[in-house]
Amino acid sequence: MARPPKKLVSSPGEPQPQGAGGAAFNPGLTAAATQRRSGGPSPVAAGRSTGLGLDSEGVRRSMVERLRAAGPFDARVLEAMAAVPRHLFVDAALVTQAYEDTSLPIGHGQTISKPSVVARMIGVLMDGVSARSGGHLGRVLEVGTGCGYQAALLCRLSRHVVSIERIRGLHEKARELVSPLRMNDLRLVYGDGMLGHPPNAPYDSIIAAACGADVPATWLDQLAIGGRLISPVLDAANKQRLVVIDRLESAGFQRTEYEAVQFVPLKSGAV
Ligand code: SAH
Repeated sequence: MARPPKKLVSSPGEPQPQGAGGAAFNPGLTAAATQRRSGGPSPVAAGRSTGLGLDSEGVRRSMVERLRAAGPFDARVLEAMAAVPRHLFVDAALVTQAYEDTSLPIGHGQTISKPSVVARMIGVLMDGVSARSGGHLGRVLEVGTGCGYQAALLCRLSRHVVSIERIRGLHEKARELVSPLRMNDLRLVYGDGMLGHPPNAPYDSIIAAACGADVPATWLDQLAIGGRLISPVLDAANKQRLVVIDRLESAGFQRTEYEAVQFVPLKSGAV
């Protein structure tokens, strides 16, 4: 069951984190990636070294420690954030801001989400019925790949991730960025995520990184029993708010509203 929402008073983009700790679960890592993480050279870092010390795990650790202090956030999500090199997903000109708690432009008028919002949303997903019993997110659908950063995090906390992007340029860029990370359980799809992705449905976890007027019925159809969906949605006052929908084991859905957020719009059609 979804937890009751906290007070709905936070300012846009400022989540009120809640979450639980727990053991690390990294099924998304290939053996090669595990080896790299434990000290081997990363081909990604080698290919795009910034010369600013951002390639070191220490920089990411300090971002995670700042998040931990501002939390609580789910410990497994923070571990994933300590491992995924966010600076490789942002433009070279913005690389010094990569480990600040801020959203950044990624081209085509879109943004990479703010780390605290990413941690918050994935943490809430980890608290769904299926995710709690399995200890991971299971089969995941992400709508709005953007640069692929969140998809890379999701891979470390799930069995399989399908991530859809409607802007071809971003889809192709994300493909290039994640390919050296060798996530063989990640499927990047170019298309309209409002339709979901029926070939891999049902999903235990669905996460949207773009805000629509409501949650498309296709996402609900593709949510597994015991599964959880999290998405920003416009409320009656036209303000964005996080909404969590759980597909109940008995029957039907339970919808819970969380805090205010700020996301790019969910748009139909692929371009
Ligand atoms: N997940 C990204 C955030 C990307 S921003 C991260 O890691 O930070 C949200 C993305 O949603 C944008 O790239 C936008 O193009 C995409 N988007 C908006 N509507 C969409 C739709 N209907 N289908 C797929 N992607 C969509």
